[in-house]
Amino acid sequence: MAKVYYNGDVNENVLKGKTVAIIGYGSQGHAHAQNLRESGVDVVVGLRAGSSWEKAKEDGFQVETVQDAAAKAEIIMILLPDEHQPKVYKEAIEPELSAGKSLVFAHGFNIHFNQIVPPSHVDVFLVAPKGPGHLVRRTYTEGAGVPALIAVYQDATGEAKDYALAYAKEIGAARAGVLETTFKEETETDLFGEQAVLCGGTSALVKAGFETLVDAGYQPEVAYFECLHELKLIVDLMYEGGLEYMRYSISDTAQWGDFQAGSRIVTDQTKAEMRAILTDIQKGTFAKGWILENQLNRPEFNAINEAEKNHPLEKVGRELREMMPFVKAAKQKGVVTSAK
Ligand code: NDP
Ligand code: MG
Ligand code: MG
Repeated sequence: MAKVYYNGDVNENVLKGKTVAIIGYGSQGHAHAQNLRESGVDVVVGLRAGSSWEKAKEDGFQVETVQDAAAKAEIIMILLPDEHQPKVYKEAIEPELSAGKSLVFAHGFNIHFNQIVPPSHVDVFLVAPKGPGHLVRRTYTEGAGVPALIAVYQDATGEAKDYALAYAKEIGAARAGVLETTFKEETETDLFGEQAVLCGGTSALVKAGFETLVDAGYQPEVAYFECLHELKLIVDLMYEGGLEYMRYSISDTAQWGDFQAGSRIVTDQTKAEMRAILTDIQKGTFAKGWILENQLNRPEFNAINEAEKNHPLEKVGRELREMMPFVKAAKQKGVVTSAK
């Protein structure tokens, strides 16, 4: 089995006397900044003027422009959206990269696909939590953590791995487990996971199931509960005890149906398509398309995003969730629009 690092394996003293600049205060940024601070690490937040700046100030952080924060810190963690990173890096971070500093990422995309090319005299490593930022924060406050991957791309100081482990520990990840990987493996598996399984695969599966039931004349509300709402309950069981525990909890009829139907949904053809998706990622085809899409101001991204918001599944879901205050978190945070 691969070596998994836990709190006891990590020497967090390497961060003593160092300042960490957290660039960005979004999903990951707010979580890393707050967890590090509570672990006793000196943090400065780097931002442009705007709503995040106000929020980080309200949360009690010293907030600076990106360049001033990068100048003050020995360890610079870039937690901006991946597509904004190259420009901000070039203008405001690269000029401050004196020898021996560390440039850190939570995802390998820009290094692996050569959108950021750092000088050889700095450490370059990643600490990539395997979960959304809001869980990185919430689990930390609960005394737990989200597991993370670390990887060293460039080791100018000879201590890059120690810094990566210490950083992972101080955001709470070593309570759950930290695995070492490479930028290539982290980038390619992360993109594959979100495309084939977690985001692309799951949303397509949920929509197809919903459409099949509604097209056959069943009530959209019933189809929504069946194909979307209940998915969380099933995934919670998988998370707690793997497929085995999920199957232990469901009825034997459901389990027999699982065994009979699963391979009719994910067929050899589906797996061949998964391999093709992986090949597009490995060859850089996916990365090139996404970089170009951003340079063109996202015409296709925006068109698909609008159409998806109007899918009947989304409309019925908004109405049903109005009646379930306990699942209203996304709406309260202003992430999801209200029922129309
Ligand atoms: P977000 O989209 O949440 O980051 C938004 C933050 O970046 C805001 O504070 C925003 O400030 C700031 N920002 C955006 N553009 C600029 C700019 N040009 N100059 C200064 N600040 C800017 O990012 P995520 O947290 O989702 O992702 C950060 C990194 O973490 C990425 O590399 C991602 O791949 C990785 N990651 C993300 C995960 C997640 O849970 N989301 C999971 C694991 C890794 P403003 O308010 O001014 O717009
Ligand atoms: Mg991921
Ligand atoms: Mg990702």
